[in-house]
Amino acid sequence: MGARSCLIMPTDNNFESLRDGVRSVVSQFDSRYWQDLDQARAFPEKFVDALTKAGWLSALIPEEYGGTNLSLVEASVIMEEINRAGGNSGACHGQMYVMACVVRHGSEAQKQALLPKIASGELRMQSMAVTEPTTGSDTTQLKTFAQRLGDRYVVNGQKVWTSRLQHSDFMLLLARTTPLAAVKKRSEGLSVFLVDLREAVGKSITVRPIRNMVNHETNEIFIDNLEIPVENRIGEEGKGLKYILDGLNAERILIAAECVGDGYWFVDKARDYANQRVVFGRPIAKNQGIQFPIAKAYVNVEAASLMRYEAARLFDAQKSCGAQANMAKLLAADASWEAANVCLQTHGGFGFAAEYDIERKFRETRLYQVAPISTNLILSYIGEHVLGMPKSY
Ligand SMILES: Cc1cc2nc3c(=O)[nH]c(=O)nc-3n(C[C@H](O)[C@H](O)[C@H](O)COP(=O)(O)OP(=O)(O)OC[C@H]3O[C@@H](n4cnc5c(N)ncnc54)[C@H](O)[C@@H]3O)c2cc1C
Repeated sequence: MGARSCLIMPTDNNFESLRDGVRSVVSQFDSRYWQDLDQARAFPEKFVDALTKAGWLSALIPEEYGGTNLSLVEASVIMEEINRAGGNSGACHGQMYVMACVVRHGSEAQKQALLPKIASGELRMQSMAVTEPTTGSDTTQLKTFAQRLGDRYVVNGQKVWTSRLQHSDFMLLLARTTPLAAVKKRSEGLSVFLVDLREAVGKSITVRPIRNMVNHETNEIFIDNLEIPVENRIGEEGKGLKYILDGLNAERILIAAECVGDGYWFVDKARDYANQRVVFGRPIAKNQGIQFPIAKAYVNVEAASLMRYEAARLFDAQKSCGAQANMAKLLAADASWEAANVCLQTHGGFGFAAEYDIERKFRETRLYQVAPISTNLILSYIGEHVLGMPKSY
C-alpha cells in the first residue's frame, strides 16, 4: 500500500501533463492575489481550497482512503509548480508531509477516521509541533512531557514555530513519554500524538501568533494539561522520533522542490527583465556581468533539481534516503537563494518594489536556509553520517 514508485525517469518525461494540471489551478491566482495576502498577512484560503478540490493536496494519500496515491517524485513536481508560478507552497505543504506520518505509521482506525476526510477537504491536518523555544535544533532534549494515566496521556509543555495551526483541525505533536534520564539512547522515549485542535485550542492549548518576515501563519503554543486518548498515539510508545524523521525526509524533498520552483521563477524573471531593460543603449543582458550570474544560477537550480529527483526516487522505493534528502534540501535552498540575489541585482531599484514580487519571493526563499532544518545541521549530518567524521556537537 506504499506510494506507487515512479517508473518514469524525469529525463524521459518532464511530467508535462501533471505540470499542466497544477498550472491550470495555480494560474488562477495572480501576483496581485499574493501581494494582497502578503500585505494583509492573511492565509491563502481560496488557493488552498482550490488545490484541495482539484485533488493535488491528497497526492500522497492511498486510493483506498480517497487520495490519488501519487509518488513523492510527482508530489514534488506539484510543489515545484506552485512556487514556479509565483505562489508559496508554505501554506499547504504541511498537508502532504504531516499526514504522511499517519499513512506510514498510523493504525487502520486512525487512517479510516482521518485520511478520507483530509482527501475530501472536510478536515485539515497541516500542523506539526516539534520545535521548542529552549532546545531548538536539539530535538531529543525537548521538554514537553506526555504522562500516561490509564487510557489517556496528560501533556504539559511549550512549542514554538508551530505553523498553520490556526488553519488545521488536527496537529501532530512530538512529546517525551519516558524521561531522558531513563532511556538508553536519547532518541528513544519520544512519542507522536494526533491532537484534535477543535477541542484543545482555547482550553488546554493557548496560541500566540508570531509575526514574522514572511506571510507564514506560525505560532508559539502553551500546552496545559492537554488530555489525549491513548488511541491517538501514532505507532508504538517511545518510537516517535523515528516516525517523525521518516516524515522529515519527505518534508526535505518537497521543500527542495519548492526551492527549485522558486529558483526557476527568479531565473525566468531575471532573464526576461535583462533582455528588455535598455541602459547605455543596449539590453543589460548583453553585459556578461549580468548574463553570467543568471546562467550560473540556472545551472545550480538544474543540478539541485536532479538531486531532488534522486532523493524522491529512493524515498518512493522505500530505500534509505536521508543523505540524498538532506543534500537535495541544501543544494536547492542554496540555489534558490543565489537565484534570488541575482534576480534582485538584475532588477536594480525596481527589485525592491513590491509590485514586481521579487522582494516577497526573496524573503520567502530565504527561510529555507533555516527551516525546516538549518544549513549547518545538514552539513554536520553529511560530515558525520555520510563521511564518517566525528560528531561535532
Ligand atoms: C517561519 C518558520 C516556520 C516554522 N515551522 C515549524 C513547524 O511548523 N513546526 C516545527 O516544529 N518547527 C517549525 N519551525 C522551526 C524550525 O524548524 C527551526 O527554526 C529550525 O529547525 C532551527 O531551530 P532554531 O530556530 O531553534 O535554531 P537553533 O537550534 O537555536 O540554532 C540557531 C543557529 O545555530 C546553528 N547551530 C545550532 N547548533 C549548531 C551546531 N552544533 N553546529 C553548527 N551550528 C549550529 C543553527 O544552524 C542555526 O543557524 C519553523 C521556523 C520558522 C522560522
